[in-house]
Amino acid sequence: MTTKTILITGASSGIGEAAARHLAQLGHRVALGARRLDRIQSIAEDIPLSGGKAIAIPLDVTSLADMRAFVAQAEAAFGEVDVLVNNAGVMPLAPMSDVRVDEWNRMIDVNLRGVLNGVAAVLPTMTERKSGHIINIGSVSSYRVDPTAGVYAATKFAVRAVTEGLRQESRHVRATMISPGLTRTELFDGIAEPGTRAFFKDMLENTSISSQAIAEAIAFAISQPADVDINELIVRPTTQG
Ligand code: NDP
Repeated sequence: MTTKTILITGASSGIGEAAARHLAQLGHRVALGARRLDRIQSIAEDIPLSGGKAIAIPLDVTSLADMRAFVAQAEAAFGEVDVLVNNAGVMPLAPMSDVRVDEWNRMIDVNLRGVLNGVAAVLPTMTERKSGHIINIGSVSSYRVDPTAGVYAATKFAVRAVTEGLRQESRHVRATMISPGLTRTELFDGIAEPGTRAFFKDMLENTSISSQAIAEAIAFAISQPADVDINELIVRPTTQG
């Protein structure tokens, strides 16, 4: 198997952390980006213990300058970027009538602008090199809208549109969207509205999968030969409606 340099945003917990650990175990070189530097540093220190290669780089995906620095530091450590996993995301769900404008803006900034910043930081080089792979983490909310999730779904529908746009325009750079269903992570701790938070905590207890399931889907997309592009994968609990 060819080993790759893989950059993962939002690698300090949940799906990003699981992906970093799993991909490193498969022999890839992983660069972990997130705001909680202590968390990514401790994961990056763990990875070599099982033979992997990892580096932790502070990153706020809402800043294009940060994203470019993330890519530059990862390249300096491991060489050219083969894969970028745009995974960072937030999900402060609440009824629209609460008008939590700050939360709406945060979802747009992290879930959509963050993905676009990632694309902007790697696409020119990948296009010039005629190779590379951008994996965007969508959601089942990229395909349907549920109560309390209007704005979150809007950002995840947009991620789907961006991924499809990339795919259509490129004959060399691969574009993949992987869309998790309910997955046991810290994402739900960011729900401030008490009723919505209680509803999802309850759902998670009965209907959820582990981050490892999503990490394995990411690894599957990456492992394909260069002429095969997995465009979309939805990975959800068997019990999820
Ligand atoms: P977590 O809360 O565990 O992870 C989210 C990650 O995003 C953290 O590492 C966090 O790191 C990072 N992050 C948030 N804001 C920023 C920022 N401004 N800059 C850089 N990193 C940021 O949740 P998940 O693992 O569940 O979420 C990962 C992705 O999966 C998200 O895109 C989410 O929408 C998607 N998803 C998750 C589902 C689930 O059920 N869990 C279902 C569908 C999709 P830090 O705070 O350290 O910066």
